[in-house]
Amino acid sequence: MARAFGALEDLDLDFASADRPQLVTQLLAQCATPRDAAFWWAQPVSGRTAALLQVAARSENLSALPFSAQCSLCGEPFEFELPLAPLLATAIDPAPLKVELHSRTLALRRATGNDLRHWRAARPSSQEQAVQLMLDSLLLEGEVQAEDHAPLAAALANADPLAAFAVACQCPACGADREVDIDLDAAALARLQQRQRALLLDIHRLASRYGWSEAQVLAIPAPRRAHYLALIESHHE
Ligand SMILES: [Zn+2]
Repeated sequence: MARAFGALEDLDLDFASADRPQLVTQLLAQCATPRDAAFWWAQPVSGRTAALLQVAARSENLSALPFSAQCSLCGEPFEFELPLAPLLATAIDPAPLKVELHSRTLALRRATGNDLRHWRAARPSSQEQAVQLMLDSLLLEGEVQAEDHAPLAAALANADPLAAFAVACQCPACGADREVDIDLDAAALARLQQRQRALLLDIHRLASRYGWSEAQVLAIPAPRRAHYLALIESHHE
């Protein structure tokens, strides 16, 4: 399903890009199967997030993601871990979402990568316009009235558990129960970006010493690469 990050083509991924949907799609088309950008654009947002987490987990043999947060009550910073297995097992219901509003029923489909791309390109100028744009593209049945915006946005967030993700934490300092919002895509991308930086540094060190190319360095299995790096480290000239 996913390979570890670290092939030659992964060095081309621009983690500094402001276009996150594009970055995520390119990454998944490289590191996950199928290797097909059109497939990943068409996936529901939660499915893209789950695949991204899988690539990050696979790349570092991670079973949990570490996070830090700050208690909004006492201000104390604290750390917690999020086990990956339940996140990856989150079922993504492909059926349209039915929302009951004052005796009316609306049906909405779930947002995909293509929707993210479309909404980004449309550059809405206000929150209100952004919600309107979102509902216009997702509405399958029914008619949306202005007062429906908030409940529909909430229903969509609920239906897409990995997209609007929050965990309940207890502050270790004051004991308060807090809800911490977590951007899972950002967390996975940050880890992979770190990984890319580390690979570039390894290539730099080995290329400087042995004159190997990027492809040659990456073709060496990681444990042997680490061995060469340790040798360079222990033989400073
Ligand atoms: Zn606290």
